[in-house]
Amino acid sequence: MFACTNCRLPYPEIGAPYRCPRCSAPFGLQGEIQVKREELDNEQPGIWRYRNTFGLPQGAKPVSLGEGDTPLVWADVLGTQVAFKCEYLNPTGSFKDRGSAVLTAHLFSRGVKTLLEDSSGNAGASLAAYAARAGLQARIFVPDSASGPKRNQIQAYGAEVIRIMGPRSNAGEAVVRALQKDDSQVTAYASHAYLPFNLPGYATLAYELVEQLGESPGTLVLPVGQGGLLLGATYGFQALIKSGAISHLPRLIGVQSSACAPLWALHAYGPAGLGWVAEATTLAEGIRVRSPVRGDAVLEAVSRSQGTMMAVDEEKILDGRNQLALRGFYVEPTSAVVWEALVQLVGRTPEPIVAVLTGSGLKYGQV
Ligand SMILES: [Zn+2]
Repeated sequence: MFACTNCRLPYPEIGAPYRCPRCSAPFGLQGEIQVKREELDNEQPGIWRYRNTFGLPQGAKPVSLGEGDTPLVWADVLGTQVAFKCEYLNPTGSFKDRGSAVLTAHLFSRGVKTLLEDSSGNAGASLAAYAARAGLQARIFVPDSASGPKRNQIQAYGAEVIRIMGPRSNAGEAVVRALQKDDSQVTAYASHAYLPFNLPGYATLAYELVEQLGESPGTLVLPVGQGGLLLGATYGFQALIKSGAISHLPRLIGVQSSACAPLWALHAYGPAGLGWVAEATTLAEGIRVRSPVRGDAVLEAVSRSQGTMMAVDEEKILDGRNQLALRGFYVEPTSAVVWEALVQLVGRTPEPIVAVLTGSGLKYGQV
């Protein structure tokens, strides 16, 4: 089910390399996910009803904290009803739990004992929680700019937190150095960006949305850093198209912070746009990703859906946070980028419109 995105080497049966040992490209999904109603395990909670789509070995132990089955709540945006998918109500307060649960189950089934990860916060907190649940050690490398509540959350789960100065990308480089020094066979870089195991987990977002709406969304609006959620959800919608449950992909709208918007720049201007992409500080720390690992695949999915990428300025992020809170949704600034996108889109994009609220405001102490 998983293979190198470049040379097509199947993911090895043994070990847990974070990228292809032959050509260094990331592993991805090979072919399409098959989702069949008769294969759902309705005895299981949340995302684990779909465990047959996760590519786990037979008999692999689920690692679960009750992720998935999040509410879909309708609210008014400039006279249009928009459905908000409350992913911040997942066990660690972010959508990452859908991916971490599946990723940790895969690594656990391969005998891994220690997980290394770099994260600006949510992915690290999520992985630390699932490592704790599975009885694994976690070492999380975080940029020094990551918000205090997220660092505290990671530590509380029993993970070791290593603070790395400088831009976000320095933390990833620090993990690779640590991995090279570690000659243990049971330590893995449990990268949410490189490893493909979380993508079938994110695909469950699509299955749930179609169940909750009774149809495909017309438009799906979500924050994009690495773009894993957008990509995983796309695989989910494609699986539902193949099974005949829906007829079309929703229009995918990926939203970035103007301070660091490489995929928006590429989508808007082609390769010429990349020359001036910054990695500036932003309230939307969770999507501050200068070089997304699967950027090409994310942009292809957006284009195929007739969607677009958008970039939101700093002052609009805070305004969005406040507007969402006034409707009862307390999300972190990263999630709030969707507000300005909705303001620009309502009335001009297919309905029903779904916006994904990715992370909890309780994790962000500064504004
Ligand atoms: Zn390869």
